[in-house]
Amino acid sequence: MRIIDQIREMRCWSEAGRRESNHIVLVPTMGFLHEGHLSLVREGRKRGDRLVVSVFVNPTQFALNEDYTAYPRDLERDRGLLEKEGVDVLFHPPVEKMFPKGSQTTVEVERLSPLLCGAFRLGHFRGVATVVLKLFNIVRPHVAIFGSKDYQQLQIIRRMVEDLNFDVEVVGSPIVRGKDGLAMSSRNAYLSQEERQAALSLSRSLRKAESLVRQGERESGRIIHAVRAEIEKGPLARVEYVSLCHPASLEKVEKIHDEALLALAVWIGKARLIDNTILKA
Ligand code: AMP
Repeated sequence: MRIIDQIREMRCWSEAGRRESNHIVLVPTMGFLHEGHLSLVREGRKRGDRLVVSVFVNPTQFALNEDYTAYPRDLERDRGLLEKEGVDVLFHPPVEKMFPKGSQTTVEVERLSPLLCGAFRLGHFRGVATVVLKLFNIVRPHVAIFGSKDYQQLQIIRRMVEDLNFDVEVVGSPIVRGKDGLAMSSRNAYLSQEERQAALSLSRSLRKAESLVRQGERESGRIIHAVRAEIEKGPLARVEYVSLCHPASLEKVEKIHDEALLALAVWIGKARLIDNTILKA
């Protein structure tokens, strides 16, 4: 596996690959890899013949009061995991090369960004969309893989690619969970044992909603109430939002007609956790 930290070298590698008609796949990550990330890597393997994984903790997607500095990092461990998966390139650019002094151009996906997580993390999706577009411009992948754990992010990237006519296929990959049901996340590293136990209420609440819908419930208000109640049973969880919305526009829905996205964000101690499921009527 080649480790590239220079933008120019990354670009040359991709250009050479394209000249040889290689199909290039990119999996963008912030590192501290877990099985969720590795599932994207394995999906990527199937979809092309050259696989690039970027590890870049993007400062522009963290607000000032957020955990940019504390965000867990372990490049050596990530490198070992990616090597085992047969990744071709680990792209790990330095922050000052990705965002040199004076850079001022950003990408704003106007209507999707302020919804759901965007209402609480101001500027977050501007940072995400901008860094992903930069990674696309540097790596020039044919295919890019994103997890549906970050459902809103996936929709925003799809919208951006469509709106800006970027020639890349965006692939969404399912949420990977631990045996206990907790969606894998680098931020789970912040949880104590007791907090991890409390965090199980997130996936439990989603299963509860699915069961209500199976029993015929269609009213968003009642489903959201039941989800909140399940999470708030424990003293350690603080709900940031629970929302039922249209799976593409992410606009709130009052009732489930065909299918709807149930998305939530919950604080457990220092960890802000998100999870979601599609509810089908
Ligand atoms: P992150 O390193 O958290 O920015 O995530 C990098 C990519 O991995 C994103 O596309 C995430 O949606 C995806 N990802 C993170 N956790 C999971 C998970 N539990 N299941 C599937 N994909 C995930």
